[in-house]
Amino acid sequence: MSLFSELVLASHNAGKLKELQAMLGAQVRVRSIGEFSTVEPEETGLSFVENAILKARHAARISGLPALADDSGLAVDALGGAPGIYSARYAGGAGDAANNAKLLEVLRDVPDEQRTAQFVCALALVRHADDPLPILCEGLWHGSILHAARGEHGFGYDPLFWVPERECSSAELPPAEKNQLSHRARAMAQLRARLGL
Ligand code: IMP
Repeated sequence: MSLFSELVLASHNAGKLKELQAMLGAQVRVRSIGEFSTVEPEETGLSFVENAILKARHAARISGLPALADDSGLAVDALGGAPGIYSARYAGGAGDAANNAKLLEVLRDVPDEQRTAQFVCALALVRHADDPLPILCEGLWHGSILHAARGEHGFGYDPLFWVPERECSSAELPPAEKNQLSHRARAMAQLRARLGL
């Protein structure tokens, strides 16, 4: 049996959990951090990778299990990479709708060709809380920011993220399709390869 036949996912974000569980489900018994604690660690890192490691260590500490954490967000080129690691809190913690409204407002006068953006995902897997060698994987998904929301699937900034290879927003993609294309899917494909899954 592999060391990672059971692991805890270090996220309280329901949208992410659903996607990560769908990507890992068959090979690994996935436990939710919510089974162990509702306390979230402060995300004090300056990068996606640092925050992913910090969340994975916290989850491993409170569960006693190997832990996988995802730190992800949206980096808009015209905003110098913002909201970046602050994506979840862009509108001060007021939630997805407020974040999206703020992004549309900030980009109101930015023309189409300057609205390019990437979704970024860093995954960190630790065997235990003090693991000196976390397994780290990253994925990027290139697109651009629409002028208005489209689609009902997904979460977060999905309704505003134009996916050029499918000519629709990521919230218009059926979940199974998003799970093959997204930043999270790309990072998870690397992780599966690293684990030999
Ligand atoms: P985290 O939980 O601190 O990693 O924050 C992630 C935030 O980035 C989410 O709350 C969303 O706002 C955004 N985000 C990350 N991945 C996605 C995605 O796949 N679709 C839409 N928004 C995403």
